[in-house]
Amino acid sequence: MENITQEFSTKAKSFIKKAENIIIVAHKNPDGDALGAGLAMYHLFKNLGKTVNFIVPNQLPVYLNWMPSADNIIVYENKKEFAAKIIGEANLIVMADFSNRGRMSEMGDKIIPLKVPKILIDHHPNPEDIADITYSRTTASSTAEMVYEFIDSLYGKKEIDINIANCLFVGIMTDTGCFNYNSSKPFTFEAISNLLVFGVNKDDIIDRVYNNYSEHRLRLLGHAINSNMKVMPEYGTAYIYLTQTDLANYNFEPGDTEGFVNYPLSIKGIVFTAIFIEKDNYTKCSFRSKGNFPANLVAKDHFGGGGHKNAAGGENKELIKETIAKFESVLPQYKKYLNV
Ligand code: 5GP
Ligand code: MN
Repeated sequence: MENITQEFSTKAKSFIKKAENIIIVAHKNPDGDALGAGLAMYHLFKNLGKTVNFIVPNQLPVYLNWMPSADNIIVYENKKEFAAKIIGEANLIVMADFSNRGRMSEMGDKIIPLKVPKILIDHHPNPEDIADITYSRTTASSTAEMVYEFIDSLYGKKEIDINIANCLFVGIMTDTGCFNYNSSKPFTFEAISNLLVFGVNKDDIIDRVYNNYSEHRLRLLGHAINSNMKVMPEYGTAYIYLTQTDLANYNFEPGDTEGFVNYPLSIKGIVFTAIFIEKDNYTKCSFRSKGNFPANLVAKDHFGGGGHKNAAGGENKELIKETIAKFESVLPQYKKYLNV
């Protein structure tokens, strides 16, 4: 066990025992960890005989739509009335992979006021007080790793079936960039090792997640790096931007830009990267860093977001041009972190 407390486990188990009807929620733009953690609990609660629904604010990325029971996930944006109705019928809310209400978007307005027990499991810094009981651990590779620990602590490893194991594996794998970052703790590999024992086919999952893109997606990556990347060695920084025209030219589908932000980190001397993606009336920003450079501080201070030290994001309510100009103008403030 890493460090889930006995008190949390006992309370969570009692909430689950009493609840007939459980709603799981994850964050906007759900990623492999949000879906992996959420779907693992979806399968667990189903196996325990509960009525369960998993609701996410908006669309799933295409590269994850094969996950076990992904078809059963309710997308709030597409079914607002239905989602609001079933949220109203829940006796327990389980929130995974986010630390503040803003990450639920509009769906949060339905969740937050509910007078039913709420559980939060998450690995982001500074969790808001939005649940009756919170298991927060920023040293976890992923929320999926924490859900592994959660299931083991409450019910024992015997409750982990192959669907749960596959979902947890996807969560840990994607949040660590395929065991690249945030995965220096032995416990992460202890969890992975057990998931393999339960029958996870690692090669198959890697193939499904990383080798299943469209030709357009790979060409969009080529375009992004070749034509739309700016390197600023004086700030140890490189960024990529994609306009709506760029995306349309390469038949963009949700999930296609996943991982792009990491590429410039492979340039020698670059410790901070960003990608700016033009939306209708805002710009989606993602940040990555190495070592002590605080990507989440940049996201929080200037781009209405937050996240982890080495992986953060935000939504800037300005057009892409203004967003990029702002980004370049604030970089000098962070120069002090370059040589730490
Ligand atoms: P990504 O760049 O993959 O969208 O997100 C990386 C990390 O940044 C996420 O795990 C999350 O912690 C954080 N993040 C991304 N977008 C937002 C946002 O809009 N608001 C906040 N607070 N955090 C975000
Ligand atoms: Mn995560």
